[in-house]
Amino acid sequence: MMKTGFFYHPVFLRRAWSIIGRKFAGFQKVIEEISQIPEVQIFEIKEPPMELLLEVHTRELLERVKGDPNYYLGLYAAGGCIEAGEKVLAGEIANAFLLVAGCHHAGRDFAWGGCTISGAGPMILNLRRKFGKVRVAILDTDSHHGDGTRALFLGDRDVLHVCFCSMNRTEDGGTKVDVDVGWRSSDDEYLEKVREHFIPKAEDFAPDLIYHILGHDTARGDYGDRGLSPEFYPRLVREIRDLARRICSGRYIVGLGGGARADLAEYITLRAVRILAEITS
Ligand SMILES: [Zn+2]
Ligand SMILES: [Zn+2]
Repeated sequence: MMKTGFFYHPVFLRRAWSIIGRKFAGFQKVIEEISQIPEVQIFEIKEPPMELLLEVHTRELLERVKGDPNYYLGLYAAGGCIEAGEKVLAGEIANAFLLVAGCHHAGRDFAWGGCTISGAGPMILNLRRKFGKVRVAILDTDSHHGDGTRALFLGDRDVLHVCFCSMNRTEDGGTKVDVDVGWRSSDDEYLEKVREHFIPKAEDFAPDLIYHILGHDTARGDYGDRGLSPEFYPRLVREIRDLARRICSGRYIVGLGGGARADLAEYITLRAVRILAEITS
């Protein structure tokens, strides 16, 4: 029986990070609770190979971000993406939850907004090296536009990137899409937009894997507030888990995106991990 992988690094819990602050400070008890779930296997992320990062970013950028307060957050987030992607594609685990999603504001030669190193870039490059042609559908439901991820994959039609942000745009033969969710949205309105703009596109695209940047900065009272309630996030994960089950053998990786509310990060993580673990039993 394949398990759900839970990927984290202890440094995530120890520091105060720029933008997201100390939202992981209380996670020791969350991780202990997750360790009690028999269908979940916990992985401590290793440092990613620099040669892989150098295929995605310029040497100048990788030197520059070493001085950024979020360097290790980005470094181990990228490592988590690489390891989780490989284990899911190899069939070692069914699906995965990353405590930190790879940085969606990191492009080849730029990184901003708390981001330092791309997650999707090295993950997909590594998957193609190990498994050949791999098609990935990226769902970005952080409040902000995933400009780094978009820039890295523009022109790569084996990557579907659907980003829920503040504009409507379709480019790259329909494989790169932005959807304006509005400044205020109810949970139902947002979910309807995902059903309309991501689910049918992903079904047509037929990916090998779905990678989801699950920001919770969209929650009421957080810094990217769109008016969403805490219950929205597990509902969304359940829908995409079921989609992955229909179209790509359940291969679904969820990474926690932006958002500074510690209570919400803990709630979403526990609920999402339990929802992912349900399919493996
Ligand atoms: Zn954001
Ligand atoms: Zn966008």
